[in-house]
Amino acid sequence: MELSEFNKYAHEIVDWITGYYRHIEDFAVKSPVSPGEIIRNLPEAPPSAGEPMEDILADFRQKILPGMTHWQSPKFFAYFPANSSYPSILAEFLTASLGAQCMSWETSPAATELEEQIMKWLIGMIGLPSDWSGVIQDTASTGTLAALICARERATGFLVNEEGFPPNRKFRIYCSSEAHSSIEKGAKIAGIGKQNVVRIPVDANLAMVPGELEKQIQSDISQGYFPLCIVAAIGTTGTTAIDPLLPIAKISEQYKTWLHIDAAFAGTALVLPEYRWMIEGIELADSFVFNPHKWMFTNFDCSAYFVKDKETLVRTFEIFPEYLKTAAGNRVNNYRDWGIPLGRRFRALKLWFVLRSFGVEGIQERIRKHIQLAVWFEMQAAQHPDFELMAPRSMNVVCFRYKPSPVTDQDQLNRLNMELKESLNATGNIYLSHTKVHDCVTLRMVVAQTHVEQRHVEQAWNQIINIAATLR
Ligand SMILES: *Cc1c(COP(=O)(O)O)cnc(C)c1O
Repeated sequence: MELSEFNKYAHEIVDWITGYYRHIEDFAVKSPVSPGEIIRNLPEAPPSAGEPMEDILADFRQKILPGMTHWQSPKFFAYFPANSSYPSILAEFLTASLGAQCMSWETSPAATELEEQIMKWLIGMIGLPSDWSGVIQDTASTGTLAALICARERATGFLVNEEGFPPNRKFRIYCSSEAHSSIEKGAKIAGIGKQNVVRIPVDANLAMVPGELEKQIQSDISQGYFPLCIVAAIGTTGTTAIDPLLPIAKISEQYKTWLHIDAAFAGTALVLPEYRWMIEGIELADSFVFNPHKWMFTNFDCSAYFVKDKETLVRTFEIFPEYLKTAAGNRVNNYRDWGIPLGRRFRALKLWFVLRSFGVEGIQERIRKHIQLAVWFEMQAAQHPDFELMAPRSMNVVCFRYKPSPVTDQDQLNRLNMELKESLNATGNIYLSHTKVHDCVTLRMVVAQTHVEQRHVEQAWNQIINIAATLR
């Protein structure tokens, strides 16, 4: 492709994107295709001769788009969002165009220094201790894995990195029964073993019970285990439950474990001073991760990982092959040494665009609005005789279910709610996902999409009650 042709199609694509966002609500939010439907329309082999962009774009519209779920639709209320925003998309254009691989300072000084500065901004914005350091990772799963590996290395004086596991060292990791699967995955990859992830019981709010944590640690020590790490969840994936950080942090201090905080989704709420209580005790923690790519209007992927002690992080991951030695050496950050992959995308740019374009107040305003919309939805569900709330709402996630009288059988209610979810999602007008709370199928209404407004939440509620009524 010639540059002039690139220019023509670049403009065409920008127009397409603008039209897409203008009419995004007309698309079925959850793709209705069935398995195999897309691949059937794709050729067995790549073309031997190049094809015109006209044809490629036509196939994008006809063959690919129908199989896309529209995560940026304001009718998307499922999972947690991977929200985006116009300034973020613009920055992604530029990142793609620069095509820089930002593994070390020298390979793009601006990428490194912008990242350093933006991480400092975030530390101030969400109220982390000002002497912590931050680095962008691809996902929270990677951040949590990095935390587990650092915990392992600190506990063994960096021995596992050198020699592998010492014999008879049995590590244990603690998290609540509601904590994210990435902790178990991390334990597998870090060589700790998923059987050594101990799930601590939760209270009525689905938050970890610190007394149970301490009992478990004491019992483990008496059986020869080494308590390595506690992972506290600020906002669990199922219901955004908030583990009580301060008492957990005191236990961590007493037993000298690594304390990692997984705030993948809810970390963004810390931009609101009224939510800062969630991280009371943070100075006693060692690491913290949250995803601007979930609720802070920044395109996937962009996960912000913060540590109290960057020396431990760098000593765990640094590498010194000859071909990577540079003159700037240790006067600068070389982010390849701050995580798992060597190569790195220029992710700080989109975050910079977002923070500058929204401003801190603009972000706070949107976040508060999402929470208020969730409060509205919660009131509807609470007041309706055929619905009930299934977990306390901590911010913008409402957990509810359909419970028409006289149905009380749990299996029947579970089936009914799965059916309600499937029927709603099949309309193409709403996308909800579910979880289980105390073994009961529970629908989750997550009000966090960048462009969601009151009318979308009202439409969602109306559809829920209308479709539910047809299931009787
Ligand atoms: C989404 C989520 C994760 C995983 O996030 P990725 O960035 O997709 O790895 C981890 N923990 C919690 C609490 C989450 O909600």
